[in-house]
Amino acid sequence: MTQEKWGLLRNKLLKAIGRNNYTTWIEPLEFQELQDGVAVFSVPTNFMGNYVSQNFADLILYEMNTAGESVQRLAFRVAANSPVRPAIDATTAAAQVVTEEKPKPQLVESGNDALESLQAAPLDARFTFDSFVVGKPNELAHAAARRVSEGGPVTFNPLVLYGGVGLGKTHLMHAIAWELKTKRPDLNVLYLSAEQFMYRFVQALRERRMMDFKHLFRSVDVLMVDDVQFIAGKDSTQEEFFHTFNALVDQNKQIIISADRAPGEIKDLEDRVKSRLQCGLVVDLHPTDYELRLGILQNKVQQYSNTYPDLTIADGVLEFLAHRISTNVRVLEGALTRLFAFASLVGREIDMELTQDCLADVLRASERKITVEEIQRKVSDYYNIRLSDIIGPKRLRSYARPRQVAMYLCKQLTSRSLPEIGRRFGGRDHTTVMHGVKRIEELKSTDGQIAEDVEMLRRSLEA
Ligand code: ADP
Ligand code: MG
Repeated sequence: MTQEKWGLLRNKLLKAIGRNNYTTWIEPLEFQELQDGVAVFSVPTNFMGNYVSQNFADLILYEMNTAGESVQRLAFRVAANSPVRPAIDATTAAAQVVTEEKPKPQLVESGNDALESLQAAPLDARFTFDSFVVGKPNELAHAAARRVSEGGPVTFNPLVLYGGVGLGKTHLMHAIAWELKTKRPDLNVLYLSAEQFMYRFVQALRERRMMDFKHLFRSVDVLMVDDVQFIAGKDSTQEEFFHTFNALVDQNKQIIISADRAPGEIKDLEDRVKSRLQCGLVVDLHPTDYELRLGILQNKVQQYSNTYPDLTIADGVLEFLAHRISTNVRVLEGALTRLFAFASLVGREIDMELTQDCLADVLRASERKITVEEIQRKVSDYYNIRLSDIIGPKRLRSYARPRQVAMYLCKQLTSRSLPEIGRRFGGRDHTTVMHGVKRIEELKSTDGQIAEDVEMLRRSLEA
């Protein structure tokens, strides 16, 4: 390795570790020679050699090897003319090797391993675009995912996919990763959960390998972090995430994030992180509708027909399931899996009777009733007013309108009668309830905001 090359490498190190670290630790290093895979540096002090060896050796090795040098380890010698040179026998040598790294023959490999294991956060082979059924509730998220999976120029950064449990966020993220792996094998794609991010971060702190950590995360081309709500309230992880995020955005690297709710609504997530997440494209996966659920079931049945070629499904069973199990796709899939397993055990066709028997518990659980109290709570949260103001006597428009929305939803989503609803709204008369319900019905067609509010609330109540 030439001095010139070392000069170039130093610039990379500067970028990776920042000006302060660089000036203190890297600048004073003098490259001496590279022989038999050992790169030798002279350092002014013993302490310094130790420090660099512990904190930056992996990074330096990584950079050297990436630049085409074959280096297995680093050695640091205290320069002969160093004023703080430890007292050593002047006759032994003009320079002494003070901090030879313990022989670590696989150090270079272990650097690469770390990178590979980062990339290899396991991807589920079933989660591809092929197996993802597109419907109205997820078409936008799907289209956005498709776009970033092409690996073209970064147009929106980050892409944030959010939505409730089991609606396909992880599936879409894996699909993107698979697609990128085939289309752009040159790109370094890193998928991991926010929890894994935190775990690695804490581990790096503990092992004092923050530089490696930073370096690895800043060297990816596409970073995908699943379930980012997990880092809410975990301050130092958020901080690190924020810096990683910024460093990658600055380099125009694609970032893809998922969360179980809109970034702005994640509690205990720092404002600066929130606003960073919001400056790209934020798309939500809506709760599934009947058609999508049916599509997913049909798709699954197709897959099962390979495993269970002899099994048949009676007409109406899938429709029944799509209608009755509206919680989340995972539950829907689980139900179908159980049906197939059961039917193959008893060697029968999957008909309504078998379905009712086999899925009694699932069907009962999904019969969950929406309560008036639940609606009142959701509506007051949504409009940011107190529950007591929804129920209480205040007539201000800012309370009256949400109250009417709540009444309307009670009428639509519960089996309560108007007088019953009135009673639960602070003992109001049933005509008041009727008036409120009518009013919202009218407004839904004239006032887009009200229509949207009602739709959002209904969805979140039914989810
Ligand atoms: P999330 O990460 O949003 O909680 P997942 O991506 O883990 O949800 O999805 C849960 C299950 O439902 C997975 O098995 C996934 O394959 C399946 N799934 C969800 N949405 C779809 C869809 N649109 N088409 C096919 N399968 C889906
Ligand atoms: Mg998930």
